[in-house]
Amino acid sequence: MVLRRLELRHFRNLGVQELTFPPEGVAVVGDNAQGKTNLLEAIYYLESFRSFRGAGDGELTAFSEDVFYVRGSVDGEEPATVAAGFDRRTRSKKVTVDGSDTIRISAALGRLGAVVFSTTDTELVAGGPSVRRRFLDIALSLNRSGYLEALQEYRRTLAQRNAALRTDGGGLGLRDRVRPWERGLVKQGARLTRMRQEWVSEWGGHFARYYETVSGGDSAAISYRPNLRPSGPEGTRADVAGSAGPDEPAPDEDALREVFIARLDERWQRDSRLGVTSAGPHRDELLVTIDTGERTLPARAYGSGGQRRTAALALRLTEAATIRKQRGAEPILLIDDAFAELDSGRSGRLAGLLAEEGTGQVILTVPKEADVRLPGRSLGLWHIRDGVIAA
Ligand code: ATP
Ligand code: MG
Repeated sequence: MVLRRLELRHFRNLGVQELTFPPEGVAVVGDNAQGKTNLLEAIYYLESFRSFRGAGDGELTAFSEDVFYVRGSVDGEEPATVAAGFDRRTRSKKVTVDGSDTIRISAALGRLGAVVFSTTDTELVAGGPSVRRRFLDIALSLNRSGYLEALQEYRRTLAQRNAALRTDGGGLGLRDRVRPWERGLVKQGARLTRMRQEWVSEWGGHFARYYETVSGGDSAAISYRPNLRPSGPEGTRADVAGSAGPDEPAPDEDALREVFIARLDERWQRDSRLGVTSAGPHRDELLVTIDTGERTLPARAYGSGGQRRTAALALRLTEAATIRKQRGAEPILLIDDAFAELDSGRSGRLAGLLAEEGTGQVILTVPKEADVRLPGRSLGLWHIRDGVIAA
């Protein structure tokens, strides 16, 4: 896909402006705190309708305004004009695709086919399991039909079951009051587990190849540690070596449902005492490991800064490859100063990889012109100052 026009109104410090992007892409150069990340945040807002930095919609609205509005037109296999607006007085968000505003937000997701490479991505590897579950959830919601619906239903029933667990008067009869929520929970939980497993099986090899290419020889892997495993729920250090590899076949949903039902019964005493559901895919882990030749170690605990950074880049490249395959179109790469912190070998190999992987549009932000390093690309050069972009 190719982002052609972008209209901005009071999104962060970007003011009111209209931009026309070259199909090849552009490098946006500007000092710190001028609005580079804000620009990529605005573009990706049209893909996911939320901030990739985790900011609330209120924070995205210019300080002196009550309403922001962003509209973008994409060319490609499925041209579309996507717009989103937010009013902080009423806290209402409105999304339109091709001018039609009856659409549900979930039906408007993923129209750009964009991936953000951010300097904060290291957190994907260094952070706790919930960060990687979120990565999986976003990648799968945007690229697998049915995933988002299953996730929403799962979260709803999980909250209901937890609320039922906490109702007063526990004791006798509590099990019967909680059980009605388990049907939906088990069904959607098995579904999520299967889809996550399938994704890791399909893309784990790509991740390893991207990591190896950028690092120049080191290896790393991702493996899925579903909470719903017949052998036991927790991903412990001891089973890292014998972990479910990328090629593990996807278990069937019937078997997963049985495991889930058994696990809920097994954990009943504990769950009813604590008032939380302790089994299910909301406790999954997507393990990232680094292979030293002698040992396979969790990157989270043992990876160096550069290794984690490289693993995070490999995850984003894998996400981009998923879009390329799923939509049959080149993803738009939004690269926020991604070469920062990489040694020159790694940044050179990353640039080479980006050039060979695809020929899609790249929107790159850098603090200095000298940091624009994409061989084989003739990116336009824009400058940004105080939120104002000049071609
Ligand atoms: P760096 O190179 O340091 O990453 P950047 O160019 O990416 O900088 P941004 O994060 O895009 O910088 O923009 C930061 C600027 O945006 C800050 O000056 C901040 O005050 C301003 N800003 C953030 N939110 C809002 C808002 N809601 N309204 C107005 N300005 C905002
Ligand atoms: Mg920034």
